Amino acid sequence: MPQMSDQELSFRELVDAAPDGIVVCDQRGVIILVNRQAEAMFGYTREELQGKRIEDLIPERFRSRHPEHVAKYVHAPKSRPMGSGLDLFGRKRDGSEFPVEISLSPIQTSGGNFVSAAIRDVSDRKRIEAEARRANSYLLSAVDSIQDAFALYDEEDRVVLVNSTFRDLVGASAKGPIVGRAFRELLDDMLRAGLFDLENATESEFRDRWFGYHGDPTGALEVRTASGHLLRIVERPTAEHGTLSLIVDVTDDRHRSDELKRARETAEAASAAKSEFLASMSHELRTPLNAVLGFAQLLQRDKKEPLSGRQLERIDHVMRGGEHLLRLIDEVLDLSRIEAGNITISPEPVDLDEVIREVAMTLEPMAQRNGVTLTNAMSSATGTRVIADRTRLSQILMNYGSNAIKYNRQGGHVTFRVTRSDGIARVAVLDDGIGIPEDKRAKIFEPFHRAGQETGPIQGTGIGLAISKRLAELMRGRVGFSTEANKGSEFWVEVPLQQSDEYAPVQAPHVAAESPLTSGPRHKVIYVEDNPSNIAFMRELIDDLSSIELLTAPTAEIGLDLIRAHLPAVVIMDINLPGMSGIDATKQLAEWPDTKDIPVIALTAAALTKDTAKGRESGFYRYLTKPVKVDELTAVLEELLLAKPQ
Ligand code: ADP
Repeated sequence: MPQMSDQELSFRELVDAAPDGIVVCDQRGVIILVNRQAEAMFGYTREELQGKRIEDLIPERFRSRHPEHVAKYVHAPKSRPMGSGLDLFGRKRDGSEFPVEISLSPIQTSGGNFVSAAIRDVSDRKRIEAEARRANSYLLSAVDSIQDAFALYDEEDRVVLVNSTFRDLVGASAKGPIVGRAFRELLDDMLRAGLFDLENATESEFRDRWFGYHGDPTGALEVRTASGHLLRIVERPTAEHGTLSLIVDVTDDRHRSDELKRARETAEAASAAKSEFLASMSHELRTPLNAVLGFAQLLQRDKKEPLSGRQLERIDHVMRGGEHLLRLIDEVLDLSRIEAGNITISPEPVDLDEVIREVAMTLEPMAQRNGVTLTNAMSSATGTRVIADRTRLSQILMNYGSNAIKYNRQGGHVTFRVTRSDGIARVAVLDDGIGIPEDKRAKIFEPFHRAGQETGPIQGTGIGLAISKRLAELMRGRVGFSTEANKGSEFWVEVPLQQSDEYAPVQAPHVAAESPLTSGPRHKVIYVEDNPSNIAFMRELIDDLSSIELLTAPTAEIGLDLIRAHLPAVVIMDINLPGMSGIDATKQLAEWPDTKDIPVIALTAAALTKDTAKGRESGFYRYLTKPVKVDELTAVLEELLLAKPQ
């Protein structure tokens, strides 16, 4: 076995340590030397490779022309570096192919000329390059599929990337390729081509505005094109100090929102017209209906020419029909007022105990007529104060209570019950009446749904519960029910409990001793208010003002009678009253010669601007809001009373 010299040994080590495969062949292309990498790369042993022709290491399809290449090279040998741009392939022993890069170097020795090829397997690099190309083309097609115009500018404000929508937009205005051009040039081209509607701005103002936004983009910029399109431009700086720009055509969006606005305005106008129509219709209907009911009553009571039994029975039908119609009109009006947002809710601390007692008292005669016992689990409500509109809460409980009596039977029971939890008070009205069949429950709180009672003997309009639900929601409350056919029902309303610090009186009802109203001639003041706590508060306040005699009325109707009888110096009017509102009552006062000059001070918890404006229009002398500010009220009273001799 031939021995390797030291020199040979170190040369072999050197060649084997090279990262590329090395194959040396002679002028005919016969392999005479390979290194370890070449063995591994092609899958042959050194012994197998030596003596093979170099063509054996390339795919068959390239073999036929290879000897020609070798001959040419041998004839004019020169070094050829790697990465010469040729797509070359190697062939492994198992026949598989792999991409390679090859550098060639001629070796001239005394024993003849040889060619040394350094071969590098570039499979990994080619794969990575292909992946990068694929990712890049994904990105480009993603950008191109953006429907809005997209442009990316580099740190020198030159275009790096645009999509076809951007090209279409800039279109013919930009000469030549867009990529590489500066933003300012593109903008100038577009302006020169008259692409935009400058809308009263000069060209340079328009340019400055866009350029200014481009330099410091916050929010969005809107511009109009000459063809009438509205474009919204949104730009943001990139991490590389460039700018990303998106131009969105919002013409259709704007049209749609304009259309929606118009539709909403039309709907609001229609709804306002509807409420107005209902209000005036109900007035028109009430007048003749009052005549019908009034004359029917006169006939019923006519002592001089008493009606026969049959006639009385018929008149009774007229009365009942008329009363039903009146209720229907009132409820429809109430509902339409609520739906048109025309009712004022005045939340204030309300004593539940007191409200339930009043409701129960009002319902007692009806309960007796129907043979139903009204019980009041009052102890559960003791001391419970909620934040609600007193009148409206009573109205809900009246609805629930009268239903519980109506949809009941002889010997039935109706109970009011209060429970408290998590800042909420729930008032429930329970009955052991006829209940509601399961298939009729779904729409019970919707207007005109009578849950199977449409054809029954119990009169109703199907509006009460709908009104109750809407009122509760206006008071930030909720309603609900549970029921079992033939067993009974429970209808409830929830309202917030009063928190200890809420609605605390701003000032103790104590008037400065120096008020001139603490002495002097007496003046009558009538206070129309349904909430007993407010009345008590006012009494205490007026107590200090000995020159004022205070009369109170719980409803506007009673108030009007009282005012006409006493002709007071001043009227203080709550707005939100059961029955007629304080606004309507004040309007009536203004129509009567005796009362038209009596100043009316509105006092209400409603403090919305809309209400204040409405109050002024309604002819109030002053519109004060609750909680009562003692100084404010005394100042108005002084202003009015001291100027006026009794
Ligand atoms: P109505 O004027 O018909 O009483 P409401 O809106 O107050 O209208 O109630 C709607 C329907 O719900 C009633 O027609 C009735 O069928 C049913 N209902 C309401 N309360 C009760 C109850 N306590 N027991 C049984 N049915 C009830």
